[in-house]
Amino acid sequence: MQKNESKKLWFLTGSQHLYGSETLGKVAANSREIAAALDATASRISENEKHVQVRVVFKPVLTTPGDILAVCREAGNDPSCIGIICWMHTFSPAQMWIGGLRELKKPMLHLHTQHNRDIPWDAIDMDFMNLNQSAHGDREFGFICSRMGIDRHVVTGHWQDPEVLAGVTHWARAALGRDESLSLRVARFGDNMRDVAVTEGDKVEAGLQMGWTVRGYGVGDFAARVNGVPGSDVQTLIKEYRELYSLSGKIMQDKSALLRLEEAAKIELGLLEFLEEGGYRAFTTTFEDLHGLSQLPGLAVQRLMEKGYGFGAEGDWKTAALVRCMKVMGQGMEGGTSFMEDYTYHLDPSGMKVLGAHMLEVCPSISAAKPKLELHPLSIGGKDDPPRLVFPVATGKALNATLLDMGNRFRLLVNTVTSVESPELPRLPVARALWVPDPDLKVAATAWILAGGAHHTGFSMVLEPLHLEHFALMSGIEYLLIDKETSVREFKKELRWNDMYYGLKAKG
Ligand code: MN
Repeated sequence: MQKNESKKLWFLTGSQHLYGSETLGKVAANSREIAAALDATASRISENEKHVQVRVVFKPVLTTPGDILAVCREAGNDPSCIGIICWMHTFSPAQMWIGGLRELKKPMLHLHTQHNRDIPWDAIDMDFMNLNQSAHGDREFGFICSRMGIDRHVVTGHWQDPEVLAGVTHWARAALGRDESLSLRVARFGDNMRDVAVTEGDKVEAGLQMGWTVRGYGVGDFAARVNGVPGSDVQTLIKEYRELYSLSGKIMQDKSALLRLEEAAKIELGLLEFLEEGGYRAFTTTFEDLHGLSQLPGLAVQRLMEKGYGFGAEGDWKTAALVRCMKVMGQGMEGGTSFMEDYTYHLDPSGMKVLGAHMLEVCPSISAAKPKLELHPLSIGGKDDPPRLVFPVATGKALNATLLDMGNRFRLLVNTVTSVESPELPRLPVARALWVPDPDLKVAATAWILAGGAHHTGFSMVLEPLHLEHFALMSGIEYLLIDKETSVREFKKELRWNDMYYGLKAKG
């Protein structure tokens, strides 16, 4: 996905004129140093990512209400600015922040740090204390943010502390996700799978809250595109398949199998062209609506997901958009994110597990090995046998995330899991994952079901819950986590409290 963008986080330092120019000069110098350190860390987000870079930009020290208002307005008007990082090196009387904060539209991280790590016990004097006073300067700033009800994330500690830098990076990744969300376009081919409730939702509200544009198309619109793909392009793509995947010799020798593979390649190229032309970065399909296509797109979906597109099956536009945002948040990290479905359980008391898969559509970015390209019949849909990539998912820490429309708000629900090795599954011709949910299957599935969590999820081996917590806060939506600490009794209370909170909020 070609983007070639540079995204920026603005570093804002608060102070006031009272200190005089000499002190303000030191404030600016210290602040530049901290911004440079954050920049060095944040720019590593894009280390393995050719297209989107994150930079931290120092802005001149703020000492007047006019400056503050101007910078908050500028941040709002600059599409490359994805958030602001605020720090009160000295005391910055917060009444002068009201005007600016009232107009702030970008996510905020409040970095509660201090330039000097240690107190110089022998040398400390009043000048030192007057310069290094974020201990109370940041409290004043925190008050006005709380008084104004501004959602923000606070990171506390010395700016060279790896934990603090990691805290900033986590938030920066979420800010990238939020930025992506605000311009995200989702193409839906066909509608929802008949009568399914959990994958439905209010698209207008999703536009307001998440920034998503969801457009519906008859599948014939892209079927026409598929039929126009030149044969030479198809042959080039098949060459690529042969290089990247283990292709069973049977496919290349069997004429009808080869025809199906060529059809899959045409679907991939037609779909890619359609999405690129419309500026879509996520899409849905449904096996119930394949008019004009000879097979359910499987291989094409897997490969486009690997390229960075979000996907949701059976018309699930919420999961498609969520998967895209998750991919953007996890860019450049080792591992991947995929569309996933809780498929079937292993309820052996000595080790309960969930087998996750889909009919075809799991992203190779989470594969443990070189995928095999295979052709098998599909038991539903009544179409030709679709080629698909078959692989076991890598082992390790992972999470599942689902987005639900609760009527008066969106709910983002996350469960941390451990992906484990699966036995050989010789008769299961799809990509699959096997995981143990936290804290255990019984508690996790009970809590998930009580929260109304879907069977479709974004499954990520790179994101941590905190990324999604920040993303939910930036989007102004509910966030719930099921992890090692979860008990059903406490979780039920959280659900009730949240219902009350969002009920009151809607009335307010
Ligand atoms: Mn499904």
